Amino acid sequence: MFFGPCKLRSVDGQRRILRVGLTGGIASGKTTVARLFAALGVPIIDTDALSREVTAPGTPLLRRIAERFGAEFIGADGSLDRRALRRVVFADPEARADLEALTHPAIFEAMERRSAAAGGPYQILVMPLLVEKDHAPLVDRVLVVDCAEELQIRRLQARDGSTLDEARAILAAQASRAVRLAAADEVITNDGDLHSLRAQVEQHHSRYRQLATQAPT
Ligand code: ATP
Repeated sequence: MFFGPCKLRSVDGQRRILRVGLTGGIASGKTTVARLFAALGVPIIDTDALSREVTAPGTPLLRRIAERFGAEFIGADGSLDRRALRRVVFADPEARADLEALTHPAIFEAMERRSAAAGGPYQILVMPLLVEKDHAPLVDRVLVVDCAEELQIRRLQARDGSTLDEARAILAAQASRAVRLAAADEVITNDGDLHSLRAQVEQHHSRYRQLATQAPT
């Protein structure tokens, strides 16, 4: 494992807590890894969860999404039909750009608020699209969960009941393994059992704690 030099970015000249961006392809194991870090007491800020919060029933953002995409994307209980909307934006780049323009400012504002309140010793920010959207400048380290594509497809099929074609299409729309790995400061390989995953998480945890105590540069 190689750890390069680490510069803690600062906000308004104030030293900020080390932030680790956790990313990886669909069903690579980001949530599973985040839970293992959480079990070690590390604050987790999950942008997927924030995206659900900022578009919860009754929010102004949900109203704006309904105005742009149609009321049919809001269910009888007032919640967003994410699956249906995902199908639309998956097939239409312009629609995807519109959805991101609507939601991203609110998600990142919520992320910064949570991060400012969460404390340390360091924080894990789960950001599935970190590489695709070039969000590396928002974090100090990029931690990639990596596994073989066949394994991602198998996990996707087992968890979501996706067909092989659906699973392949989702993977094809994401950054490739090579591109994601090129952006990584650290890598967790999730091709074994949970025991192996936990051991890797513990190793990174102790190193991140060390980095978190370094003087700002
Ligand atoms: P998504 O991109 O959809 O949010 P994710 O990257 O967060 O997914 P997880 O939900 O953590 O991935 O994992 C995908 C599925 O694979 C889950 O059902 C999880 O329980 C399973 N899984 C992950 N890692 C392992 C492992 N090492 N051994 C067995 N099952 C695993």
